Amino acid sequence: MTDTNEALFERGKLVMPGGVNSPVRSFRSVGGTPYFVAHAEGPYVTDVEGTRYIDYVQSYGPGILGHAHPKVLEAVIAAAAKGTTFGAPTLGEVELAEELASRISGLEMLRLTSSGTEAAMSAIRLARGVTGRDTVIKFAGCYHGHTDSLLAAGGSGIANQGLSGSAGVPAGAVADTIVAPFNVVPEIDDSVAVVAVEPVAANMGLVAPTEGFLRGLRDACDAAGALLLFDEVITGFRLARGGATEWFGVQPDVWAFGKVIGGGLPVGCYGASREVMGHVAPLGGVYQGGTLSGNPLATAAGLATLELLDADAYVELDRIATRLATGMRKAFTDAGIPALVPQVGPLVGLFFGDAEPTNFDEVKLIAENGVYPRFFHEVLQRGVALAPGPYEILFPGLAHTDAVVDESIEIMSEAAHAIA
Ligand SMILES: *Cc1c(COP(=O)(O)O)cnc(C)c1O
Repeated sequence: MTDTNEALFERGKLVMPGGVNSPVRSFRSVGGTPYFVAHAEGPYVTDVEGTRYIDYVQSYGPGILGHAHPKVLEAVIAAAAKGTTFGAPTLGEVELAEELASRISGLEMLRLTSSGTEAAMSAIRLARGVTGRDTVIKFAGCYHGHTDSLLAAGGSGIANQGLSGSAGVPAGAVADTIVAPFNVVPEIDDSVAVVAVEPVAANMGLVAPTEGFLRGLRDACDAAGALLLFDEVITGFRLARGGATEWFGVQPDVWAFGKVIGGGLPVGCYGASREVMGHVAPLGGVYQGGTLSGNPLATAAGLATLELLDADAYVELDRIATRLATGMRKAFTDAGIPALVPQVGPLVGLFFGDAEPTNFDEVKLIAENGVYPRFFHEVLQRGVALAPGPYEILFPGLAHTDAVVDESIEIMSEAAHAIA
């Protein structure tokens, strides 16, 4: 039998750095051998050795309906049969754009891209083009994809690699980037083009904005004539039908989306008011494009996904996440393990510490205490897949039935006792 996880990892490592196409997947920060997925359905992934896991990774967000949802598959297969990419506009793009815009108050026009990275990168370029200013303020621990100017003090995989940014990013590329602590409204002067923020930080574990933080950013940006960018690649269409904008009642000038809106295929999107988007080529001077942007398979998967995300779905998502978070808290308390399970609506985090962190420095102290990797392996060997790194969150979705959630909690309880 050659298709063991170990054998595939060895083969992969010969032809891909770390054997993977995105660093966190390599298990570097938890140790061990990654499971190679053979197939997945609903809340489960099954590896090449036939081991099935209850999956809370869900591709880090896209899997809001669970894996291989029949309605999404049907849409993708039907689209594929008509051709996979044309380099010409399609009905699907118009429909997806209309659907996205209809859900978010203030989002009047948008561009589809093929990843969240492209969306955030393009949103920054747009903000600079609109304001004629260069400076970007971002927050430590917030991740906006792997574009040069936004890598500094990013969370997620960058935090996992123990790097503050990345080799290969020239000083010039970050010369106009200011990194501020999350949850403190920074000084914003008239050199600032844009303030980029994850409205709920979900790439340094889960860190909610403190009361008044987002409103404070809105007011400070207005006072300085800077644009406010909500990177809703995780929160968009997950936190609520209208994303963080609806949840918090604070409207940014520019948005970046991704993950959920592609239904598991590669899609990102950035958008703004009609006036601001009027600066994007061919209407204006800010260039951005893409060979596969608005790809017909991806738009079909995205539309099929959003179709199922009605008002009831968001009530259900919240209920599932609450059941999971409540059960996890009880499991840790019963085992005598100091752990925090922050929750913002459908988003659930996990920190092995005593006090809930509010910024990246506080997160790092907890994330590096060595407990997460032990817990990760204890639950994995019992059949629950969490993200292989302490800076990620859990992604409960509509496929996680009560029975599945309860089984996960039971497994986490056993694991908590094992490491106590
Ligand atoms: C995942 C993520 C991105 C990057 O999206 P990709 O599709 O991985 O390029 C950007 N911002 C946030 C908040 C994310 O979580």
